[in-house]
Amino acid sequence: MADTRVSTNNLDSFWMPFTANRQFKQDPRMLVSAKGMYYKNAEGRQILDGTAGLWCVNAGHARPKIVEAIATQAGELDYAPAFQMGHPKAFELASRLTAMLPSPMDHVFFTNSGSESVETALKIALAYHRAKGNGSKFRLLGRERGYHGVNFGGISVGGIVSNRKMFGTLLTGVDHIRHTHDLERNAFTRGVPEHGEEFADDLEQVITLHDPSTIAALIVEPVAGSTGVLIPPKGYLEKLRAICDKHDILLIFDEVITGFGRLGTPFAVDYFGVMPDLITTAKGITSGTVPMGAVFLQKKIYDAFMNGPEHVIEFFHGYTYSGHPLACAAALATLDTYAEEGLLTKGAMDADEPGDGKGLGTYWQTALHSLRGMPHVIDIRNIGLVGAIELESIPGAPTKRAFNAFLKAYEKGVMIRTTGDIIALSPPLIVEDHHIDEIVATLAMVLKDLE
Ligand code: PMP
Repeated sequence: MADTRVSTNNLDSFWMPFTANRQFKQDPRMLVSAKGMYYKNAEGRQILDGTAGLWCVNAGHARPKIVEAIATQAGELDYAPAFQMGHPKAFELASRLTAMLPSPMDHVFFTNSGSESVETALKIALAYHRAKGNGSKFRLLGRERGYHGVNFGGISVGGIVSNRKMFGTLLTGVDHIRHTHDLERNAFTRGVPEHGEEFADDLEQVITLHDPSTIAALIVEPVAGSTGVLIPPKGYLEKLRAICDKHDILLIFDEVITGFGRLGTPFAVDYFGVMPDLITTAKGITSGTVPMGAVFLQKKIYDAFMNGPEHVIEFFHGYTYSGHPLACAAALATLDTYAEEGLLTKGAMDADEPGDGKGLGTYWQTALHSLRGMPHVIDIRNIGLVGAIELESIPGAPTKRAFNAFLKAYEKGVMIRTTGDIIALSPPLIVEDHHIDEIVATLAMVLKDLE
């Protein structure tokens, strides 16, 4: 009988996502286990997780409570149909989650990923205006350098050229406002940048161009993560909110990265004090253990669908795995872990003394900014427990310098992420000062050693 096992010598069959496949397969970086702040690779080396996996493992790896909850659930109720049937943990989780958000954000729709949350939110927004008798509101607005996952709605409202250009016309009726990244005025800002509130005026301009009666929603990441940690300038989000209100346009915050403690508050809405109409989340909801996403929506939106005959389905949308029992069990145990260990405020700026058990935001900030002046560094920025170091590109070879930094950091035992020539960092929220020191010391060596 043929041996069907795939050995690590045969890497050909798997077409890896968002990966330079040919490079990887020549020099694979294979992770085989993980615990707390560390991965272990196939060579048996510890790799410090400077990125919480892909911005998701907020509670740290292999936390016993979460592992046990998933295992128990698998033996108790492995699956329940998501349509016309329910199971208690989905309702319990929905109540727990909505209780974490300020009123009136009091309903939740479950998905399986950030991309699905985005598609769901965009569809809710379009259907909401129709339900209210405003079917002419069909346009969706996004922002340059926005990342909203990889499905067609998400790449259409998203603003990353390489994610769009291979795929034809995308959704029609979409437009974008400018991003807010302004190195000239805001380089080396600690926390929220001072300059750029006026970028929000773009919104008024785009709305006027298309006429407000045609515009359904604007989607933005409060802090753009995947395109390099772009932090909104002071007053910017408030202004977007006011303009959306003025024109009856729904505001969607994509909190797939910022949700669940990344900014030192439970959600970005808590950090910035600006309330959108819908919030998309995923990742940290289960600390990355089981795929899950969720869209939060205000009561007025839910209520707009709850009319018509009672036996008729109100919203024709959903996934086979919406509110999957394993994901719900994982999420409930994750929320317990966050609460018991105070992880959702761990990135707050309230202390810079190592080991005092309070927020690490200031410590993180000081440590990252200590890399100012290192070779190639043209900006350092931070908020909560996320940060970015922007490097000057090698002329004619954009992305190469940061990619080399990624390879060198991995060799030295630290996992970082890069996008363009930007190094992005987002450690699990269980990070301690000595891990931060290790990340920064490794980066210092890497930067000195870069071409
Ligand atoms: N939105 C944002 C803001 C994200 O950062 C991501 C993933 N990095 C997504 C959506 C897509 O999430 P997923 O990969 O789970 O589909």
